[in-house]
Amino acid sequence: MRHEHPGDIASFGGLPRDGSGDDAAPGARPRSRPRGGTRSTTGKASAPKRRAAVATAGTAARPVYPFSAIVGQPDLTGALLIAAVDPGIGGVLILGDRGTGKSTAVRGLARLLPDIDVIPGCSYNCAPGRAAGVTGCGACSGRRRPQRRSVPVVDLPLGASEDRLIGSLDIERVLTHGERSFAPGLLAQANRGFLYIDEVNLLEDHLVDALLDVAASGVNVVERDGLSVRHPARFVLVGSGNPEEGELRPQMLDRFGLAVDIATPRDVAQRVEIIKRRDAFDRDPEAFVAAHAAAESELRGRIVAARESLDGIRIGDEAYERAAELCMAVGTDGLRGELTLIRAARARAALGGSDAVDADALLAVAPMALRHRLRKDPLDETGTDARLARALDSVRSTPADPAATAGPAVPS
Ligand SMILES: [Zn+2]
Repeated sequence: MRHEHPGDIASFGGLPRDGSGDDAAPGARPRSRPRGGTRSTTGKASAPKRRAAVATAGTAARPVYPFSAIVGQPDLTGALLIAAVDPGIGGVLILGDRGTGKSTAVRGLARLLPDIDVIPGCSYNCAPGRAAGVTGCGACSGRRRPQRRSVPVVDLPLGASEDRLIGSLDIERVLTHGERSFAPGLLAQANRGFLYIDEVNLLEDHLVDALLDVAASGVNVVERDGLSVRHPARFVLVGSGNPEEGELRPQMLDRFGLAVDIATPRDVAQRVEIIKRRDAFDRDPEAFVAAHAAAESELRGRIVAARESLDGIRIGDEAYERAAELCMAVGTDGLRGELTLIRAARARAALGGSDAVDADALLAVAPMALRHRLRKDPLDETGTDARLARALDSVRSTPADPAATAGPAVPS
């Protein structure tokens, strides 16, 4: 057994071998289909002129492969759902094979989430009525009526400059109007949505640093070129990378909340199901989406309910102790691992409809909360899995506190 899966989350997990994102291996595509509109190719087609198009393309009615129709890959869907319930958890790092539907899963999740209200023309996706935090958001200072749009998914192309990411001085405006104003970047577009980075391990260090800072604080602060701008940039960071193609710095790994390791499925029946569904979607996307509308609606309801119940989930001392034992057993640096473990377990409990975090919830999320924080050789796959399994076994078999096995943790 590789690791524990959140059982209830696993039941709707899955994996399309999709063509909607750039992570699909050509050989894995059941048939070709037009490239998704929001995705530029890896770096090269991302001319700054396309900036405005990126954020709005996702609002088109173009069908997106339903999240609930994904087959297999429970770690991936489970981690994304946890991040959707608790966006403050710090994003999801997806390690592993290309062509395993990473991009499809992110896009599917964004479409699944309830639409957000924004002011037409607002570059920051300001929540209506709460635009005060944005300096110079002209759109929101007017009296336009809010509009609904789907949760944004913004791709960060590999070749993107820092200006494009964080925003920059609007040179055109300087030249034509002689005034300094801010041209928002991708961080603004990603506000209240997802920022997806394919091959995050190939991204330049200074971009990664800027990105992780903003992801943690939820605010983008730009102080340069005579500009002084702060705007909200709350997004779920989703990075994917193949460790075999470029090292991921330990400091960067640690700052992602969750990490999942995904692989091409090796089960014939599962592969057949994946291909059948993908083919059905490609041939008639609208019908496929309609056929899954009920499942989508049910899952959306669970996410919304989980978000609402999150603050009320009880975490007993026993759960904290288990978390500490686990982190010591696998040897994580610092305490970030424990904190993430607790948060992930809480979100998972909320998704499962329970009102307390128990040992099972902790053990179930431990691999995704801890795999990227192991002290040595964090990306030595066999070593990582073996160490995690060993640590889980040791904690599971430890009687610990007799009260610990008595049921849901109750604060003492
Ligand atoms: Zn605004």
